[in-house]
Amino acid sequence: MKVLKFGGSSVGTPERIKGIISILKPRINSGEELTVVFSAFSGVTDSLIEMSFLAANADLTYTAKLNEFIQRHKNAALELLGKERFDKISNELTENHDQLRNLLNGIYLVREITPRTLDYVLSFGERSSNFIIAEALKLSDIKAEYLDARKIIKTNKEFGSAKVNFNVTDHLIQEHYKNNTGIVQIVTGFIAADVGGLTTTLGRGGSDYTAAIIASALNAEVLEIWTDVDGVLTCDPRKVKKAFTLPTLSYAEAMEMSHFGAKVIYPPTIQPAFRKGIPIYIKNTFNPDFVGTLIANDVNQENDKTIKGITSLNNIALLRIQGSGIIGVPGVSARLFGALGSGKINVILITQASSEHSICIAVSEKEAITAKENIEAEFQKELDEGLIDPVLIENNLCVIAVVGEMMRNTPGVAGKLFEALGSNGINVTAIAQGSSELNISFVINKKDELKALNLIHDSFFLSDNRRIHLFIVGVGLIGGTLIDQIIQQKQQLIDQYKIEIQVAGLSNSRKMLMDANGIDLENWRDKLLSSETTADVNIFIDNMINENLSNTIFIDNTANEDVAKVYARVLENSISVVISNKVATSGPLDVYKKLKQLASQKNVQFRYETNVGAGLPLISTLQNLIASGDRILKIEAVMSGSVSYIFNNFDVDKKFSDLVIDAKEKGFTEPDPREDLSGADVRRKVVILARECGHDISTTDVELVSVLPDALMKIPSVDAFMKELINYDDYFTKMNEEAKSQGKVLRFIGTTENGKAKVKVEAVDQSNPFYSLQGSDNMFVITTQRYHVRPIIIRGPGAGAEVTAAGVFADVLSVVN
Ligand code: ADP
Ligand code: ASP
Ligand code: MG
Repeated sequence: MKVLKFGGSSVGTPERIKGIISILKPRINSGEELTVVFSAFSGVTDSLIEMSFLAANADLTYTAKLNEFIQRHKNAALELLGKERFDKISNELTENHDQLRNLLNGIYLVREITPRTLDYVLSFGERSSNFIIAEALKLSDIKAEYLDARKIIKTNKEFGSAKVNFNVTDHLIQEHYKNNTGIVQIVTGFIAADVGGLTTTLGRGGSDYTAAIIASALNAEVLEIWTDVDGVLTCDPRKVKKAFTLPTLSYAEAMEMSHFGAKVIYPPTIQPAFRKGIPIYIKNTFNPDFVGTLIANDVNQENDKTIKGITSLNNIALLRIQGSGIIGVPGVSARLFGALGSGKINVILITQASSEHSICIAVSEKEAITAKENIEAEFQKELDEGLIDPVLIENNLCVIAVVGEMMRNTPGVAGKLFEALGSNGINVTAIAQGSSELNISFVINKKDELKALNLIHDSFFLSDNRRIHLFIVGVGLIGGTLIDQIIQQKQQLIDQYKIEIQVAGLSNSRKMLMDANGIDLENWRDKLLSSETTADVNIFIDNMINENLSNTIFIDNTANEDVAKVYARVLENSISVVISNKVATSGPLDVYKKLKQLASQKNVQFRYETNVGAGLPLISTLQNLIASGDRILKIEAVMSGSVSYIFNNFDVDKKFSDLVIDAKEKGFTEPDPREDLSGADVRRKVVILARECGHDISTTDVELVSVLPDALMKIPSVDAFMKELINYDDYFTKMNEEAKSQGKVLRFIGTTENGKAKVKVEAVDQSNPFYSLQGSDNMFVITTQRYHVRPIIIRGPGAGAEVTAAGVFADVLSVVN
């Protein structure tokens, strides 16, 4: 005997039922002995519950729903059976539906729905569907018979979720089959009866269980659960798009997954099959040729992944029982669980700290208040004496469980799991691991459910790719180049590093573009230009936070103060920040410190490598030196590419003003070259370096001597300045000649030492590393405790869109790693 069960989703429409008949018919004709259990049509059980409660609330709209129910069944019967056959059975169907109408009218009159009556109402769902399907099978020449499961499955009177009396039930099933050999039994799922005949149900989703009970009583060869997905998947496919079918699961794994939320199997189903060693197949009615999932003993292979599946249960509350009165007192747990048991409260997860000072239990939110009341009643005396505190309830949580037998004795699973959560800012409220090491479950905020599921799924299954979501503000020279570099590197990052970069948000100062599934970057400039959404950095951030995507990074490539103001909120939401914008890092000290502190507190990153020296590995070098115990004593640097260019080319035969014009024309300077020559930008960079070395310093603390005399700085227009500059050529030539006469050259140097900083033009001789600087290169000379005889020198191009964008890109990759 093989027992098959088809769920509501498989019998939603007459077409689907015809599909099932075409699955069953050839198998029966080829001699397979089958029993088939069907659920109610999809949505029917929910609708019957709704009607019952409407009626009990004196709301007459229940009648419209009832009429819909009746019509749906009539239509299905007519469609499947044809007029002639339908006329023959329609009396029976109508009689049955009249009973339901009377029943609901009764509920309406007494204004009350008890669990007992509700079970009776619900039975009409499975009875109607199975009656019609049995008739349809008979019509297609199958020797079939409708079987009301209330005749063969006997339970106690726990209406809504009745417990099966297996002794009586097994016997009744065996007797029934003895007397009906050779006839395919079409059995109502979900419903049963107590010994006195009252209708009960086996719990929502209970048709799976019905099939398992019959399979077990008959020692069936297999149990097949047919549903609307390709078997048991690694994760709920509605929550994780990349979930895929598990070819095999052990009974224990299946049990854990179903208990922790994998709705595809009703949890009690596994036990009867497991007891008898009956293999369970989960198959897809919509894809019948696909093998699906096999649940059996000893199916796990050496080379299986360490974890099999990830599940979640939401609307969970955590109760915390704490106080000195529970430390080392024997029997506390027994009393606690006794109190919960007598209130029929289902405990999902328990943790107790080894200090024994507190016990945490997770229950469904619906049961939290009752659970608290029951516990407090049990511990009334201790509460009065102040030995334990009132029970605390925390709502809006969810439990995630990671399941797999191969986790046993595999070190590092929990580490990998919690690292993935931590680095995405997901806070874990409680953790439990069964000593069987089959399941690690933990409690997190409900709002993080999808993010956590997808993250864990990616990190354990998609050895393949890790997906990174970028939200980029500023798409000018640097930002635009960055996006072009991303497009160029995309495939290589996937192939070599298994990192998949998706740009999920893009904004310039006028427009923005957002797509959680990743913006198609082809022609991104046109797309952004034609976007309908006006740019607003705060809305951009709100959307980014609400999307709550895994591995999100916010990138600022503007020089804008308003954008810099949002970093704190971004970091607070556990999202890493990568910037080329210098406003925040060189701005007010308290803001800078707060950002650093937030990043460390939230376990995310705040990176700004390109703030000084563009793509040169400067900040990261300083950070690594400090982290490894070195102390930075002094940094001297030429770090303005444009000013560097001017002084590096300042030969005796050249005029200073010509050099400025040349640098301006080559695009090395800002549109107003005085922004570079004033040293304001270098001063900001010095501040950033000094802060990196641990000094509390601001721009106002820096001793700054502009390259230009005051009079030149005061000229309002750039053109007028450029004209007037010619009159100062002699001043600069004299300065240069004086240096030359001592064998020196002029360099614009920023220095930080002992918490002090200065920026000014200095004359340096041949022994100085800056002497040999060429082109527009930057150079950093770093003296540390370890490198004090010969300093570390970092030298190279310190400006330009390509190298700066590459530096931002490198920051992004180091966040990912
Ligand atoms: P049926 O009506 O056939 O009993 P259910 O709706 O009860 O179907 O169960 C099937 C559904 O379970 C799937 O459509 C899927 O959305 C959900 N589900 C949740 N977790 C999983 C999982 N790990 N694997 C497969 N399906 C899952
Ligand atoms: N029809 C019932 C329910 O919806 C039983 C089942 O579908 O398994 O819960
Ligand atoms: Mg189901």
